[in-house]
Amino acid sequence: MSTTERPRILVVGGGYVGLYAARRILKKMRYGEATVTVVDPRSYMTYQPFLPEAAAGSISPRHVVVPLRRVLPKAEVLTGRVTTIDQDRKVATVAPLVGEAYELPFDYLVIAMGAVSRTFPIPGLAEQGIGMKGIEEAIGLRNHVLEQLDKADSTTDEDVRRKALTFVFVGGGFAGAETIGEVEDMARDAAKYYTNVKREDMRFILVDAADKILPEVGPKLGAYGKEHLESRGVEIYLSTSMDSCVDGHVVLKNGLEVDSSTIVWTAGVKPNPALARFGLPLGPRGHVDTSEKLQVQGTDYIWAAGDNAQVPDMVGRRAGNPNAWCPPNAQHALRQAKVLGDNVISGMRGFPQKEYSHANKGAVAGLGLHKGVAMIVMGKVKIKLKGRLAWYMHRGYHGMAMPTWNRKIRIFADWTLAVFLKREVVSLGAMETPREEFYEAAKPAPAPAVAAKSEGEKAKAS
Ligand SMILES: Cc1cc2nc3c(=O)[nH]c(=O)nc-3n(C[C@H](O)[C@H](O)[C@H](O)COP(=O)(O)OP(=O)(O)OC[C@H]3O[C@@H](n4cnc5c(N)ncnc54)[C@H](O)[C@@H]3O)c2cc1C
Repeated sequence: MSTTERPRILVVGGGYVGLYAARRILKKMRYGEATVTVVDPRSYMTYQPFLPEAAAGSISPRHVVVPLRRVLPKAEVLTGRVTTIDQDRKVATVAPLVGEAYELPFDYLVIAMGAVSRTFPIPGLAEQGIGMKGIEEAIGLRNHVLEQLDKADSTTDEDVRRKALTFVFVGGGFAGAETIGEVEDMARDAAKYYTNVKREDMRFILVDAADKILPEVGPKLGAYGKEHLESRGVEIYLSTSMDSCVDGHVVLKNGLEVDSSTIVWTAGVKPNPALARFGLPLGPRGHVDTSEKLQVQGTDYIWAAGDNAQVPDMVGRRAGNPNAWCPPNAQHALRQAKVLGDNVISGMRGFPQKEYSHANKGAVAGLGLHKGVAMIVMGKVKIKLKGRLAWYMHRGYHGMAMPTWNRKIRIFADWTLAVFLKREVVSLGAMETPREEFYEAAKPAPAPAVAAKSEGEKAKAS
């Protein structure tokens, strides 16, 4: 890393907030005013709203991520994890991908570490569950689901077949409803290429502890989303939860028991637990406690935003709700990042800070090809859309929200190609263990059993 005399703005996390905040700071900064350093264990930002489409193969996984070094050429990008912050010395400890951890001094700090899957100590979950927070998981889920069809097509064991064709999704928010919608669509579509697997042989189950799905789009559209998924044969169990899933034997609180090789866990998120080691003020659920100016409470050189921060929702508060907080979503993360970037520049120059305030613009959700729900908020009017039109809104909105024109064009090209070429349904499960076959070929042959030498051979050898 560089050791300059300039002040360092350290951005912890290169996701939505980290990427957009760093871009904003670099855009507004004078030449040589500061060094912007972004630290993230991944070398790319992930556009999470497209993970369900990546899992369904509608978008190439590479197009859902944005390489940080390419979009932030003027920043110093370090691939590693910030493990601790020493506020007295203004030093962060960075654990790089390889090698010893080192200390990185900073003058200004941006905390943008996002959230992680919120799990519970459910027997079997850690071993069987598949999350949906990163591109690796989306690729893994797609390969895994198609591999289950391959298995079911080729086995004569009815129990193995039934288990392979049963897919359980826990959590019916954005991530869960969109993922089951996309994956179900893809899997049933893929069935036409299999001799022994029919569309109706597959069982898709969605479980949620709440009494509704898709709360983000409101009760009416959420109810429509539920009816729509049910009309496609998805079994939805609400107000219930998963008690255990040891070895894929799923037991629900409502008494249902099924065997499944695929358990997808999308039951919400919680702030990054690493925050607990940073010595920052945290709210009751572990978020960094942040003012309406996105400054961490009690500091004037640390800012936080996005899924890891509790940011007051000033629109809600002005409307009379003193406990309104911004929900953890991309809509807020993106807008907060821009205000945060401006405030870092102002803070560095000793100018006043801007308040963050944003009125909800609505929500869009895709539920498979040509299916979706959308709620657009225009002032006091809420426009509710469903079906194909909502799906176009979903694609149009997210396609344009995808960072960089390079990625936007690639995504629209993927969608356009899919109109003419059929959906890709190949499972590349071996990608997860690419060296296995080579290892088998290259490993030393086992020593042959040593046969007792005959007297003649012994004589020849000597
Ligand atoms: C499947 C799915 C679908 C979604 N769909 C929608 C949608 O349709 N609409 C919507 O508004 N929102 C949606 N969201 C939510 C939205 O993506 C998030 O709210 C948004 O990404 C939050 O941005 P962030 O910067 O706070 O966190 P992230 O974008 O998650 O970025 C956090 C970054 O911090 C990095 N990090 C973690 N630990 C460390 C560490 N110790 N040191 C350094 N870096 C670290 C991570 O690698 C990551 O890059 C969806 C989320 C998911 C998972």
